[in-house]
Amino acid sequence: MSALAQPDLFAGGARMVAEEAVDLTLASLEAYGPRHEHWAIAWSGGKDSTATLTLIVRLIEEGRIAAPKRLSVFYADTRLELPPLQAAADAIIVKLKERDWIDVEIVRAQIDKRFLVYMLGRGVPPPNNSTLRWCTRQIKLDPMAAALEHRLRDLPGTVLMITGVREGESAVRDKRIATRCSKDGGECGQGWYQQMLPEAKGMRGRIATLAPLLHWRVCHVWDWLRIYAPSTAMGGWPTAMIADAYGGDEAEEINARTGCMGCPLASKDMALAAVVAMPAWDHLAPLLGLRTIYRRLREDDSLRLKKTGLDADGSLSKGKNKQRKGPLTLEARLWALEEIVKIQGAVNIAARELGRPGVDMLNEEEISRIGELICRNTWPNGWDGDEPTADTWIESVFPDGSVQGLLIGVSP
Ligand code: SF4
Repeated sequence: MSALAQPDLFAGGARMVAEEAVDLTLASLEAYGPRHEHWAIAWSGGKDSTATLTLIVRLIEEGRIAAPKRLSVFYADTRLELPPLQAAADAIIVKLKERDWIDVEIVRAQIDKRFLVYMLGRGVPPPNNSTLRWCTRQIKLDPMAAALEHRLRDLPGTVLMITGVREGESAVRDKRIATRCSKDGGECGQGWYQQMLPEAKGMRGRIATLAPLLHWRVCHVWDWLRIYAPSTAMGGWPTAMIADAYGGDEAEEINARTGCMGCPLASKDMALAAVVAMPAWDHLAPLLGLRTIYRRLREDDSLRLKKTGLDADGSLSKGKNKQRKGPLTLEARLWALEEIVKIQGAVNIAARELGRPGVDMLNEEEISRIGELICRNTWPNGWDGDEPTADTWIESVFPDGSVQGLLIGVSP
C-alpha cells in the first residue's frame, strides 16, 4: 500500500474522502501530464499552491505518476509576502534544490514595477477593486510570463503549467474557474495564472494549464499541509508553519485569503490579523498599519493631484472624466515611504530582540530607487506634476464641455 493510502492517516468518517480527492488529482495528472515533456508550477507560497507543489513532488517520487523530463518551480515573490509564508517558502526551496530533477526560480517584478517602488517612486495610487487594479498583472502575472517565456526558449515542445487553483467540489460540478482573488480562502494570482498565462505574450500555443487540486476541499488542504506533507514518509516538508499564516488551529474556520501584506483590495487583511494574534508572531503587529497608509493615500485629496479639465492652451481636455484624480504628490510619497520604513524598522527591532523572523519589504536598493524617482520628478504617463492637488477648489468641467464656476462667494 502506498504511503498516501495509509489507513491510519486517512481513517475515519468524512476524512476518508481525501483518498477520493487524491485519486481525482492523480487521474488529472495521468491524463494531461504525459502530453508534455516539461512541467512547471506557478507557486505563490500560499496554502493551495504549496499543497499542489509538495503533493506532486511526492507523487512523482513515489512513482505514482510518471515524472516529466524536468519540473520547473517558479516561486512568485511580491516582496510583500507574509513572514510565516516566506519562512516556509525559504525552507521548501532548500528542499527542492536538493533534487536534481527540479529547477527552482524566484520570480520578481523588475525593481521599478514592484508594488512599493511603483507606487511611491512613480506615484501611482494604491490599487483598488474598481478602477485601478494594476498590481496582480504587474507584480505577479507579467513576471511569471516573462520567466516562463525565458525558460521556454531553451525547451522544445510545450509545457504543462500547474497552478494551485482550488474551487472545491462546486467547481467540479460547474466547471468554472474564477479569476477573482478576493474570494475567501483563495490565493491571489493563481486564477490569473490559470486563465491568462496561456494567452500572455510569447506563450500562445506553448503552454497548457492544469489545476490538479481544483476539486479539493479546504479540509483536504489542511490535512495535507499539517499532517501528511510534514511526515517523514511524505518527504518531511516544512508546511505545518503555513497554517500559522492562516490562523494556526483556527485556520480552517478563518479561511483567510492570502496575498500581499496589507492588500488594499481585500475587505479585511484576515491573514495578517490572524498571524499577529498569535504570540509567536505578535511582533508583526506594526504591519497592520500598512492598510491605514494605503487608505490615506487613496482617500486624502491633499495627497493626490487632479486634472483641471482644461489643457495648457485653455481648450477642453479629452476623456470622459475630465477632472479625474490622479497620482500621489511627491510629499505624499515621501511621507508614506517614511511610515513604511518605520513599520519595517519596528518589526525588525522586535524580531531581533525576540530572536524571531523579521520582514523585508523594502531593501536599501528599493528605498534608494524610490528616492531617485522622486528626485527626478517622476510621474505616471499623462501627468507632469503641475496639476493642482485634488482638494483644490476649481471650476467644474463637465463631459459636454460646460463649465460651472465656483459656487462659494468670498465671505465679507
Ligand atoms: S494580494 Fe492584493 S495587492 Fe497583492 S497583487 Fe493581489 S490584489 Fe494586488
